[in-house]
Amino acid sequence: PAALVSAPALPDRLSVRGARVHNLRGVDLDLPHRSLIVFTGVSGSGKSSLAFDTIYAEAQRRQVQSMSSFARQFMNEMDKPDVDRLDGLCSVVAVDQRSSASRNPRSTVGTVTEVYDLMRVLWARVGRGHCTDCAAELVDQACPAGHDTPLPDLSGPAFSFNLPFGQCPACLGLGSTREVDPALVVPDEARSLDEGALAPWRTVPAERSAAADLVARAGRSTASPWRTLPAELRSALLHGVDGSGTTGAGPISGARFLGVLPWLERRRASAGEGTPDPAEPYLRTVACPGCGGSRLAPAQASVRVGGRGIAEACALPVTSALRFFARLEVADRDRRVIEQAVIEITDRLTFLTEVGLGYLTLDRPARTLSGGEAQRIRLAGQLGTRLFGLLYVLDEPTVGLHPEDTAALIATLRALRDVGNTLVVVEHDHQVIRAADRVVELGPAAGELGGRLMFTGTAEELLDDSDSLTGRFLRDPGGSTARPGGVPRVRRTPRPGREIVVRGARANNLRDVDVTLPLDMLVAVSGVSGAGKSTLVDEILCRAAERALGGDAPPPGDHDEVLGLGAIDRVIRVDQSPIGRSARSTPATYTGILDSVRKVFAQTDEARRRGFKPGRFSFNSPGGRCEDCSGDGTVRVEMGFLPDVFLPCDVCHGARFDAETLAVRHRGRSIADVLAMSVDDAAEFFADLGPVARPLRVLAEVGLGYLRLGQPGNTLSGGEAQRIKLANELQRRPGRHTLYLLDEPTTGLHSLDVARLTGVLHDLVAAGHSVVAVSHSMEVVAAADWVVDLGPGGGADGGLVVAEGSPEHVATGEGATARHLRGLLR
Ligand code: ADP
Ligand code: ADP
Ligand code: ZN
Ligand code: ZN
Repeated sequence: PAALVSAPALPDRLSVRGARVHNLRGVDLDLPHRSLIVFTGVSGSGKSSLAFDTIYAEAQRRQVQSMSSFARQFMNEMDKPDVDRLDGLCSVVAVDQRSSASRNPRSTVGTVTEVYDLMRVLWARVGRGHCTDCAAELVDQACPAGHDTPLPDLSGPAFSFNLPFGQCPACLGLGSTREVDPALVVPDEARSLDEGALAPWRTVPAERSAAADLVARAGRSTASPWRTLPAELRSALLHGVDGSGTTGAGPISGARFLGVLPWLERRRASAGEGTPDPAEPYLRTVACPGCGGSRLAPAQASVRVGGRGIAEACALPVTSALRFFARLEVADRDRRVIEQAVIEITDRLTFLTEVGLGYLTLDRPARTLSGGEAQRIRLAGQLGTRLFGLLYVLDEPTVGLHPEDTAALIATLRALRDVGNTLVVVEHDHQVIRAADRVVELGPAAGELGGRLMFTGTAEELLDDSDSLTGRFLRDPGGSTARPGGVPRVRRTPRPGREIVVRGARANNLRDVDVTLPLDMLVAVSGVSGAGKSTLVDEILCRAAERALGGDAPPPGDHDEVLGLGAIDRVIRVDQSPIGRSARSTPATYTGILDSVRKVFAQTDEARRRGFKPGRFSFNSPGGRCEDCSGDGTVRVEMGFLPDVFLPCDVCHGARFDAETLAVRHRGRSIADVLAMSVDDAAEFFADLGPVARPLRVLAEVGLGYLRLGQPGNTLSGGEAQRIKLANELQRRPGRHTLYLLDEPTTGLHSLDVARLTGVLHDLVAAGHSVVAVSHSMEVVAAADWVVDLGPGGGADGGLVVAEGSPEHVATGEGATARHLRGLLR
């Protein structure tokens, strides 16, 4: 193996004194270096505030400070975190789920893991050129059959699709292009033109009336469903007719009409460089016709090692690529050159297989990976660097990982530790907590009720600690699946005729399977990562349901039909994305609580006397807000070459409203005072006011009583955002049967939060709805009424229904889910 590269020697320990970032209450903590440390605690307790916003932020700030002032200008220098002392820091690497690499559209699994860089060396050093016309191997750089052939430049960067000379000139190394998809232009063939069958023209009256003239000329009606119009007319509406008589048939043959597709192309052509593509909603990604998806210039694509072009090798799943490199035979003179590269490639591919990612291909674009997949891939890149003396800070590396694959992940974390690194891992997974050298638990609850150090010690000590919440769940893992108070769940059973059936599902790796999802209950779709869960639920079921209900979802993945959607009135995907696009969307605005609160303020005597209407009490529009900060409460100060800083507005001092508006009080409190209240306090304050109190109570029930009504949406965690959305659904009036779809809802959640979440999902079912949750979490699976287990493996080894039935029934099986589920069922 390559020599280990040393960073400066690690001090013995890392010590934190007086950490007060966000909700932390002056945390003091000593941590041994060269060990695996897990931070745990309920969501909102302050784990990330300590791991990322204090330790990582300060270490990175010092790293930046030690660079030249020239380098510093280009770094986003961070504010000094609120902490008295931090000693024993070293170089840090954060491996979180939102990697910057994934934003480069050319990043692939191969480039992020650096396997592709090693392969480039191989192909450049020992590859043989082939004639692009007859595929014969070149001899002395010429085709033996005499074809003229572009000569591959086999120097170092020749195979880089990130650089101009290596990349396909048609797609500039992307491997794909975006083209207008007629299926997106006419998303629903049952609609008539009047109902907007041609989606791009729904809001373009001129084109709609031109289309109506053409339809009239053909003797048809714009009120008829699209699919009932004659094929020639549909073709003319899509592609146009040029009046020459050679296009179009019958009555439309002499017409001149610009079809919707050429119309879109014209708009694309005239859009400026760097502006959004005007046809964006109607585009689909297709393999580049220039390179067939290989991303490479033609000469490069023709160079082969072991019989394969570099792009062909990258199209193999990682497990097959491993076999390919193991069997690679090369001439003796090449062996020495490539030995090292092959060893390093094999190391990294083996790691990817071990952490359950053997199903991915090296050419898979990084931006199509889930957060958990992306993080494990970046970890693979780190393993390969062979550096030691570093501090790694990781955010829930088990996200999306089935318990079956967790052991391998733990082995990797230990390997990084054993070569002399320190790992701080924010994690809820019981296996990882048990594997830690040191466990740190924050609590006791979330937000202002958290931020204290509850426990620090070894995993064994944690199990014996009767006060530790985490210790309790570790001792009794089934506890999280029981109803609060330990009442065992009564499973619901399917009712005849109340079910959705997906028939012939074939998208991605699904193998022509039929899946039955019973309605009126909580259904968990489980399976190892890559089994096909998201493909089934997001790409097929969700899109088919949205379309059946008249929505504009993209075309669902390949399948025959979805039966039973008639029983549903609404479909809602409840994910962990932010509750709004800006800092201005807060729990109060999202849930509509603020609308009711504004009416209350407008009805006070003071407001009536001054003539203030509800709109006066909004910080989103002029009228009552502080105009010095436009209702932000903060102002941005530009610091020249330093990053901008945000200071409290010196007119409103952060209150966001002008003095007259703040003078209006309801029971002694101003609108700004109300926005500063926690959900729990506000529920008490507005107890007698139904429209405000009811949604507040629901927010508290989902465990968000600690949130401030005016907390900016962009500071909420994914789990908090998801629970706000669920709370919003829970307070709706019953009546319309809704199908709720959730993907990995336990991300970022402690066992206690998971128990709360499954409680909320059961409440939705009790209110007359149906819930389908994709989850690898055995806690969710054990709490469900019904389980559909996909697998048995990932990628090509998955795509089948392994078992379906109650959790008890599924647990009797052979597979990975059954094995791990048994431990939780009592
Ligand atoms: P955990 O990682 O344990 O889930 P966090 O450290 O993310 O908890 O959050 C702890 C508390 O700090 C929560 O109340 C959260 O809402 C709050 N918080 C997190 N980030 C910010 C921020 N950027 N500004 C203000 N409050 C924040
Ligand atoms: P799960 O949700 O069970 O983890 P997925 O449904 O995400 O599994 O993936 C199933 C298979 O389909 C995997 O082999 C995955 O690599 C493949 N796949 C998923 N999304 C895409 C995509 N956008 N492009 C190519 N392959 C994909
Ligand atoms: Zn191309
Ligand atoms: Zn202001």
